[in-house]
Amino acid sequence: RGPVPLRMRAVPLGVRHLLLLTEDRAEARRVEAARRDFVVNASHELKTPVGALALLGDAVAEAADDAEAVKRFAERIQVESQRLAALVRDILELSRVQSEGAFEAAEEVDVAAVVSEAVDRSRTTASARGITLESSGPAATVLGDHRMLVTAVRNLLDNAVTYSDPGTRVAVATSVDRQGGTVDIAVVDQGIGIPASAQARVFERFYRVDPARARDTGGTGLGLSIVKHVVADHGGEVTLWSEPGHGSTFTIHLPLPPALERGATTTDPEG
Ligand code: ADP
Repeated sequence: RGPVPLRMRAVPLGVRHLLLLTEDRAEARRVEAARRDFVVNASHELKTPVGALALLGDAVAEAADDAEAVKRFAERIQVESQRLAALVRDILELSRVQSEGAFEAAEEVDVAAVVSEAVDRSRTTASARGITLESSGPAATVLGDHRMLVTAVRNLLDNAVTYSDPGTRVAVATSVDRQGGTVDIAVVDQGIGIPASAQARVFERFYRVDPARARDTGGTGLGLSIVKHVVADHGGEVTLWSEPGHGSTFTIHLPLPPALERGATTTDPEG
């Protein structure tokens, strides 16, 4: 007789096991509900540009002889397709960072390289809007995924630039908090700020403080959810300080790699 399949064996379950199983099931149900919500919300968000494109297509067909009108509709088609492309990009990015094991193996990541890549990518948009970008801080290393961290810092920078006025500054300041055991990347702007009542909600998927303004600026409402997930995947957290009318500071706190913490103690002359 071959081995008895596991599920057919009479495995005595202790109360603890049972509780764990119930918790697992509750967690699985929560995850499933969140996934369903996401699909519903994402479909709803996608319907807006898709619907607009369909109407604009009809409008172009009807205005065929009116070159001016065709041009106007064509411009709106460009805007709506860019919006659709941004939504698809962010939905894919979010579902990637939400899935377990978003990156296979953590590698040593040079934080200064992450920041300079993110700053370089945001520079054109910033200068087009008359905003100065700066970065500062000591060399630091964390464990994780370079590309995902660039995406996170870049999303914070894009927001800082989008929600700031021309002539202001956006700064990325890196620092090492040895006591707290973290490497901190702060993105500081002097922009419109976020009302206290909205601060807890900005990390929710598709949440926007001012939906009309966000639509004009091409926001998808997913940027900060992506940041939150990337940072959580790295064992860190994101904090927010903001004062309406004065600006916002989003700070990514990443764990200092254990080897570096040890290194810091051995080079300490007192220690
Ligand atoms: P979006 O693509 O709309 O920018 P996010 O998830 O990145 O989506 O941000 C959610 C909302 O939080 C934004 O719509 C905006 O209202 C607000 N927000 C994010 N970053 C900033 C900032 N630096 N200054 C002011 N408001 C911000």
